[in-house]
Amino acid sequence: MWLADLGEDERSRLDRVMDGYRMGITPYYLNLIRTFDSSDPIFAQIIPSKAEASLSPDELEDPIGDDNPDLNTHPVRVITHRYPDRVLFYPTPMCAVYCRYCFRKRMVGQAAYAPNPTEIAEGMAYITAHPEIREVIFTGGDPLMLPDDRLIKIMREAATIKHIRFLRIHSRLPVVNPFRLTDRLADKLASLGKSVRIVTHFNHAVEVTETAIQWINRLLEHKISVLNQSVLLNGVNADPKLLETLLLKLAEHGIQPYYLHHPDKVKGTGHFRITIARGREIYRELIQRLPGYAVPRYVLDIPGGYGKIPVDNDHVIPVAAGKYRLISPVGIEREYAD
Ligand code: SF4
Repeated sequence: MWLADLGEDERSRLDRVMDGYRMGITPYYLNLIRTFDSSDPIFAQIIPSKAEASLSPDELEDPIGDDNPDLNTHPVRVITHRYPDRVLFYPTPMCAVYCRYCFRKRMVGQAAYAPNPTEIAEGMAYITAHPEIREVIFTGGDPLMLPDDRLIKIMREAATIKHIRFLRIHSRLPVVNPFRLTDRLADKLASLGKSVRIVTHFNHAVEVTETAIQWINRLLEHKISVLNQSVLLNGVNADPKLLETLLLKLAEHGIQPYYLHHPDKVKGTGHFRITIARGREIYRELIQRLPGYAVPRYVLDIPGGYGKIPVDNDHVIPVAAGKYRLISPVGIEREYAD
């Protein structure tokens, strides 16, 4: 019905959006939509909007600088090495859904970004040669899109590297297709013999269904920790009450709130962004309303890949209305405007 309501102009803007970026949704997640328009938090996250065709000059293809050549943090194709003790490892660019605000919009869903066995081997060789790396974070795309055997083979290779103590998977599958969390998968993850955690991505309480909880419990029963990162999104969850409901529900079911991300300046996502001042107001309310264990860290990735920083006065210094100086963990300064 929402498509039928669009005029010619709006349809052509939507076509342009669809030319540049994938759409995908699982039947399970589609069923969580209650109202087929952008007032619905699931619809807003997943259904393309003509607002994505409105670009602003400071928006970036790669806002968190995974590929920034100046930073020298991308030693081989499957790895970003930004912090000394951990690496990001990209085993697949595929996702089960394509979130409209995704910070890796430039590459998700594109087979050209899928690594071949030689590239996977180069990644493992890099990790082996760097004993300061303690943790491998499998991200993507969504690593749980790989079949169990393929995923576990890659993870086992990492697990056998002596200095690797922690393995992590970043995945939205527990939210958009919780049936992926089978006992077989949980067994195999537990058998890796390292500390394994899954960081998932619930943004709104309606996503925390009984079904999702039931399948996530399989991980918890296998002593696999489950954490959550949310993105603060205008029109989805940028409201203290909504976030309070979400975070309490997560904490109640053993899912540790980990990060609340200020939205990245990704191309075509201005309609999702809020100002830093509003983000801070929301966060202050959360601190007052929730126990510490239910409050995630409110963070911002400095555009360009200069690191993740807490959105507080030590790192985000207001210099004028809507303008800030951002200071990276190693003291690099960048200007930022809402
Ligand atoms: S699941 Fe994650 S990587 Fe995939 S589109 Fe959504 S935010 Fe991006």
